[in-house]
Amino acid sequence: MKKYNFNAGPSMLPREVIENTAKQILDFNGSGLSLMEISHRAKDFQPVVDEAVALIKELLDVPEGYSVIFLGGGASLQFMQIPANFLIKKAGYVNTGVWAKKSLKEAKHFGEAIELASSADKNFSFIPKDFDIPTDLDYLHFTTNNTIYGTEIRKDLDAPVPLIADMSSDIMSRPVDVSKYTAIYAGAQKNMAMAGVTVVIVKDDMLGKAPRELPTMIDYRTHVEKGSMFNTPPVVPIYSLMETMRWVKAQGGLKAMDALAQERAKIVYDEIDRNKLFRGTVATEDRSLMNICFVMNEEYAELEKPFFDFATERGMVGIKGHRSVGGFRASCYNAQTIEGVKELTKAMQDFEAQH
Ligand SMILES: *Cc1c(COP(=O)(O)O)cnc(C)c1O
Repeated sequence: MKKYNFNAGPSMLPREVIENTAKQILDFNGSGLSLMEISHRAKDFQPVVDEAVALIKELLDVPEGYSVIFLGGGASLQFMQIPANFLIKKAGYVNTGVWAKKSLKEAKHFGEAIELASSADKNFSFIPKDFDIPTDLDYLHFTTNNTIYGTEIRKDLDAPVPLIADMSSDIMSRPVDVSKYTAIYAGAQKNMAMAGVTVVIVKDDMLGKAPRELPTMIDYRTHVEKGSMFNTPPVVPIYSLMETMRWVKAQGGLKAMDALAQERAKIVYDEIDRNKLFRGTVATEDRSLMNICFVMNEEYAELEKPFFDFATERGMVGIKGHRSVGGFRASCYNAQTIEGVKELTKAMQDFEAQH
């Protein structure tokens, strides 16, 4: 039966990315060796890294003076690597959920890191707005998309200080004004590639300013200078990343991804709002286009498990909500199709008709 993948991460990738990567795993560029067996220094692999970097720069319209690097350790390692490299005196953090909280916790190892605003009192069901931003911050850190709760800051904040963002779960889904940022980072496994590589975009002239000794691997300059080849990079994940960037470009780039995201999300949210069984869980104006969270209305609470089973029988995968929210979460990253979300809303309608 056809499956519709709504996993929150690792998540759905375009079919052709998977097929092309699979082919290279069997025989890399006709070399007779697998992509899994070649040296990262092989002459055929450097072009893969170069093309992946070039496509990210092109798609995100990255200005001069920024470097794109590929690292290990996930977005979680960036929670400490960001402040290690960029926290000089004081940094501000917006607490919009578990990931944001973890990033703040790690920053405190390196200096003064303050929580400027939080939506913890309402289980992170909204995005704090109109909070004061001190002008003496080294940077303002925020999480653009809160994967667990389904809220999103789908814009580049206006702030009197440079921005740093964890864009793990909505990077490449809209155009971004990179010039506002000191750094952008994202674990690739939500919207860009298979798991195993983290994309970090850093502003070169902000590097080397932090008043501390940095271990070699933690210093971004190591990876910028060596073109992400200081140590062995994750070859297969980078290859799949390059393939996804080709696919995004072929679809029309980030404006097209944005339009598709709007269209998909509208289909699902319209159904949540119309259907008597379901309701959304977050403030309407802060609804994520990437992770669409919903629960049963109170009077139908006992239908949660039956709906889950009903949808699963129809091929829906990964729609169970995170345990801290409950209910359902339909993750709609770039590769999610209109067909997929229509199948989901059809299941919601058909289930409603039975009750
Ligand atoms: C998944 C996720 C992370 C954690 O990513 P890892 O690569 O597993 O460390 C961090 N931030 C956000 C917003 C996420 O969605």
